[in-house]
Amino acid sequence: MKNIRLMLAATVALASAGALAAYPEKPITIVVPFAAGGPTDKVARDLAVVLGKNLNNQTVVVDNVGGAGGTLGAAKVAKAAPDGYTFLLHHIGMATSPALYRKMPYDTMGDFEFLGMVNDVPMTIVGRPTLPANNFAELRTWVNANKGKINLANAGLGAASHLCGLLFQQSLQVDMTTVPYKGTGPAMTDLMGGQVDIMCDQTTNTTAQIAGGRVKGFAVTTLKPLTTPGLTNLPTLDSQGMKGFNVSIWHGMYAPKGTPKAILDQVNAALRKSLQDADFIKKQEALGAVVITDNRLSGAEHRKFVEAEIAKWGPVIKAAGQYAD
Ligand code: ASP
Repeated sequence: MKNIRLMLAATVALASAGALAAYPEKPITIVVPFAAGGPTDKVARDLAVVLGKNLNNQTVVVDNVGGAGGTLGAAKVAKAAPDGYTFLLHHIGMATSPALYRKMPYDTMGDFEFLGMVNDVPMTIVGRPTLPANNFAELRTWVNANKGKINLANAGLGAASHLCGLLFQQSLQVDMTTVPYKGTGPAMTDLMGGQVDIMCDQTTNTTAQIAGGRVKGFAVTTLKPLTTPGLTNLPTLDSQGMKGFNVSIWHGMYAPKGTPKAILDQVNAALRKSLQDADFIKKQEALGAVVITDNRLSGAEHRKFVEAEIAKWGPVIKAAGQYAD
């Protein structure tokens, strides 16, 4: 009897070791909580290719679950099976949504495993190509002359475009009508078509459109001007009378709470390797993004960073009186 039990235990141990050694044995999904074609989606799609290569050449697919400022997609991952086949790539909205939503569909610090961060990304103020302003000073004059008539696109409450747009309106002391989309991919299409007037969005979505003349670039949201080709001539908002304006967003990867540590370690190792991939770095740099090389590559530091960001943005958002149920 004892022998049979021992044999059984050994078989189970071997089977589970074998299962982990074989991970990943089927395609992995990265949920992007915004629409396809937008900045978060772009980062995820480039990352999916290199991450798959570093996970035994497994396929990594991107699932766009946009809506409600990214909270729908994040909720989907919070409720997914913790088996190493569903991950989330999210941006600063992970830290701003808890302050914006009275009822959150997940617990940011309690429902996820933190896998490591991917990049830091500046934002830009862009306008429709038909806007009668060609630099920031002219934009400000146009804004003041058109109070009450300006449409500002964003990706919903909690999105980076919402946060940046909020601070932008506060700095200008002008209220604009916000037009929410499931992501700034579709918002960009409408901006290029002239259906909306202005947007604040990541450089990963705006660099090519500014360079191609499909939208007008007015300013960058960082304290220092950017060195990214095509964006070097844009002034910082800080230098345009908006002292201290500084919004730079970041992306990180998450797994559902309870994902086995061996899988988290394997994916973290693959993520670290992916972020050293010369082609991935080149693509990110061309879009103004800076790939993470510091200790935020570790799950523990990533977790601490998000906690600090929640503490940083919560009071700013609450002071602005922004809530959604
Ligand atoms: N840039 C968007 C935002 O945070 C999200 C996206 O579509 O990737 O507003």
